Order: sequence, then C-alpha cells, then structure tokens
Amino acid sequence: MHSSLYSSKHECLLCGDVITNPICYNCIGSEVEEWLSSRMPKLKPKLKKTGEMFASYTHHGTRCILCGDNMNVCTHCYCYEVHKMLEDYPRLAEEFVEFFNFELRGSPVSSLA
Ligand SMILES: [Zn+2]
Ligand SMILES: [Zn+2]
Repeated sequence: MHSSLYSSKHECLLCGDVITNPICYNCIGSEVEEWLSSRMPKLKPKLKKTGEMFASYTHHGTRCILCGDNMNVCTHCYCYEVHKMLEDYPRLAEEFVEFFNFELRGSPVSSLA
C-alpha cells in the first residue's frame, strides 16, 4: 500500500503507533521546560539534548495541531524519553507523569488513590 501525501494516518517513526493527537516535541518540550524551570532548572540542558535527539525525526509526517510543524514522532515517545531522563529523580518523574497525564506503555502507572 502506498501512502499518499494526504493519508490521514501517520505513524510514529519510533513506536509505529498512529499519531492521534499530533503535538510536536517542540510544543510539548516548551511545556516541559516551563515545568522544569519551577521544579529543577538544572535539568534544562538535559531536556534540550532530548529535544535535539527528536529534531532529526521531523520529516514529512503529520502536522502539529499547535504550531503546524511537520512531525513524525508521537508525544508518547517524547514523554518516554523525558521520563527516562528523570530516572535519577523518582519523585520528579512521578510528578512529570501526573502533570502531563500520560501513561507509560508497558508499565502501568499504579495510582495511589
Ligand atoms: Zn511513538
Ligand atoms: Zn508544535
């Protein structure tokens, strides 16, 4: 099956999932950065590095609903990388998951309700 330019389905280059809520890493990244600024500013350079990793994936794909940039990697994969970046700071990582309200695939987040 040839994918046409106007295909409504775009798959994430990293996980292969259909991108249902296209928000690019840049847009998410600035949210995360704001959050980090108030929580642990010293991690901001690390966050930037994570973003740079994703920059190489911005080829023709779908468009970010916020800024309109081409994007090919889902929000989930970006959040996953950021979460990995926070692994030395479990509390922060937990907060991140709550704040950005995403579920870690494969490892169900147990709520402490
Ligand atoms: Zn993905
Ligand atoms: Zn965007």
